[in-house]
Amino acid sequence: MRIDEILAFNERFVEQTHLPTIGHTPRRQMAVVTCMDCRLVQMFEQALGLERGDVLELRTAGATISEEEREDGANDLIRSLAGGIYLLGVREVAVIGHTHCGLAHANSTALIASMQALGVDPQKLIAQEELGDTQGLLRWLGAFNDVHVNVREVVNVIRRSPYLPKIPVHGLVIDIITGKLETVDRG
Ligand SMILES: [Zn+2]
Repeated sequence: MRIDEILAFNERFVEQTHLPTIGHTPRRQMAVVTCMDCRLVQMFEQALGLERGDVLELRTAGATISEEEREDGANDLIRSLAGGIYLLGVREVAVIGHTHCGLAHANSTALIASMQALGVDPQKLIAQEELGDTQGLLRWLGAFNDVHVNVREVVNVIRRSPYLPKIPVHGLVIDIITGKLETVDRG
């Protein structure tokens, strides 16, 4: 199991490293929302010039909120931002999607085959959760076609949420190959 490699590494890490003690309020009073993509690990912070303790980082599949959860603005992302704003002093938010995202142009045939191979019946799930059809399954997953459109939509869900105060919310896209940021919507 991969977890054994991680545990072995961690034993050496704590022996060799002494981490400075820092507070839990983000120094830059900022939260960034991005994708879970593994290519963003380390590269994301380096490209943005972020150090430990600088910002809150929230990652979701596709840096998005699934369609079913957008309506009332009370989803898990909003809950996390509310915690960051009211309890940890966040005063600015940036939603940062990325090029070549796995959630963009997700293929329903591949999704269904993968679920079946892992013993989950997609049709049963669609009926049970009232998703309608395989497109509904993709919507539940948060799949999208255009990263720029998706970033704008997520920015708007955050701006409109009755749970959050009026603070700047920006939308950007990061190039997964070069690390270059593009501003889509400046809050
Ligand atoms: Zn992604």
